[in-house]
Amino acid sequence: TTTTAADLEKLQVLGHGNGGTVYKVRHKHTSAIYALKVVHGDGDPTIRRQVFREMEILRRTDSPFVVQCHGMFEKPCGDIAILMEYMDSGTLDSVLKGRGKFSERSLAGVAKQVLNGLNYLHSHKIVHRDIKPSNLLVNNKMEVKIADFGVSKIMCRTLDPCNSYVGTCAYMSPERFDPDTYGANYNGYAADIWSLGLTLMELYMGHFPFLPPGQRPDWATLMCAICFGEPPSLPEGSEKFRSFIECCLQKDSGKRWSASQLLTHPFVSISNSN
Ligand code: ADP
Ligand code: MG
Repeated sequence: TTTTAADLEKLQVLGHGNGGTVYKVRHKHTSAIYALKVVHGDGDPTIRRQVFREMEILRRTDSPFVVQCHGMFEKPCGDIAILMEYMDSGTLDSVLKGRGKFSERSLAGVAKQVLNGLNYLHSHKIVHRDIKPSNLLVNNKMEVKIADFGVSKIMCRTLDPCNSYVGTCAYMSPERFDPDTYGANYNGYAADIWSLGLTLMELYMGHFPFLPPGQRPDWATLMCAICFGEPPSLPEGSEKFRSFIECCLQKDSGKRWSASQLLTHPFVSISNSN
């Protein structure tokens, strides 16, 4: 049987995003609790495109480290809805605001789960492109799952003309012509690893690493810092943790470690030890 909007009772708003609202809902017959992301059908075409992309990706993914999708439907009014598993502890961002900074040990657990999720996505040719604390969901078992695929991308086997053939072909590196053969270096995947590095730093320090606590971002300054400055490094923390962050925050994407490489980093195994 297919779930429709009529089967669901809205309990509360969980979050507002760019294009829509996420509700906590209860299935009237089974009493099961879900999260329902609703995007207005009459809205911005860009947002509609995003939600269709998100649906396409959620349809393809099946991993304990990626938020699970239980169905999608279009309401008679044209609204589009995605039914997802409910993550009862919110996002890593809300956990940071509620419980304060994360310990290294708990971040090792976070890192391991997000890396497992990224490793899954990347091996299915999906680049998330928006890894940050508010897109990583948590439940009471401290399971962390990747969510919000609104700006994600499914990499094509051949190069995507609108994204990759920018610049002069003669000077393009081999991996930009043939990512399947030379893709160890050039790929959108490495961008997700950079974002993960910044995310873990933020959860440890309690503020975004490129900015002092409480400062609002001035985008031009921030962009200059990211492009021309040294990558941020941890002011404190164990050698393993600092090394892990360094592997994520290599400015040269070719030197940055991949998700599968990082899963073997000694920092990740801290989460298993007692
Ligand atoms: P947007 O693209 O609008 O940012 P998200 O998918 O990130 O949409 O959802 C917005 C917010 O809704 C999240 O930051 C989170 O607080 C909440 N949320 C989304 N999905 C869930 C879920 N499955 N369980 C619990 N809360 C969720
Ligand atoms: Mg989001």
